[in-house]
Amino acid sequence: MKKFDQKYLVVVSGPSGCGKDTVVMELMHRRPDIELAVSMTSRPKRDYEIEGSHYYFVSREEFEHRISEGEMVEYTEYAGNYYGTPKKEIEEKLVNRQTVVLVIEFNGAKKIKELYPGSLLVFIVPPSIEELERRLRLRDTEENWEVEKRLEIAEEELKHLADYDFVIENVKFRECAKKLEDTIDFWQNKKEEKHDNT
Ligand code: 5GP
Repeated sequence: MKKFDQKYLVVVSGPSGCGKDTVVMELMHRRPDIELAVSMTSRPKRDYEIEGSHYYFVSREEFEHRISEGEMVEYTEYAGNYYGTPKKEIEEKLVNRQTVVLVIEFNGAKKIKELYPGSLLVFIVPPSIEELERRLRLRDTEENWEVEKRLEIAEEELKHLADYDFVIENVKFRECAKKLEDTIDFWQNKKEEKHDNT
């Protein structure tokens, strides 16, 4: 990737069903200057999803080809499917000093922090595991076994909170989005001051 100021790279993670997508959409609504990176996945498209907007949907073979071509900043396997961030999706925006948000799981987040220590990692938590299960079942987009699998992964994910710079609880999505916005501003201003002082 070309050189860019790492403070513009923001990662948002949180267990499936915690409402992070709604929170990030609200953030985009509040801040049109912030860009959302579209990931690539080999997971089948859900009915309401739009190619190139929610994800770039590709086959497993295509995904593996992209990996071998070195086109991914990071990627992982989650619940049996590949997910990854294409370099092309974020490079130009970051070089142009635009804040870019990646909504990715903890393995990807860890990788981003290793590569770019100045990036900001935020984890969104649901009020409780029970609430998470309720939201996942209410959403009704996954089969029962898949909900169970996602809850299992959620318990695992919650063990990685220490890898994140900030943890925000999502009780009401608008308040959570405001906190996320404030956190990004705080992080970027702090880095600015540091930069000024050196
Ligand atoms: P879903 O199938 O619910 O859309 O996503 C499953 C999980 O994959 C979520 O935790 C989501 O944040 C994560 N994810 C989506 N895109 C990426 C990506 O590009 N890289 C990584 N590492 N995880 C991703």
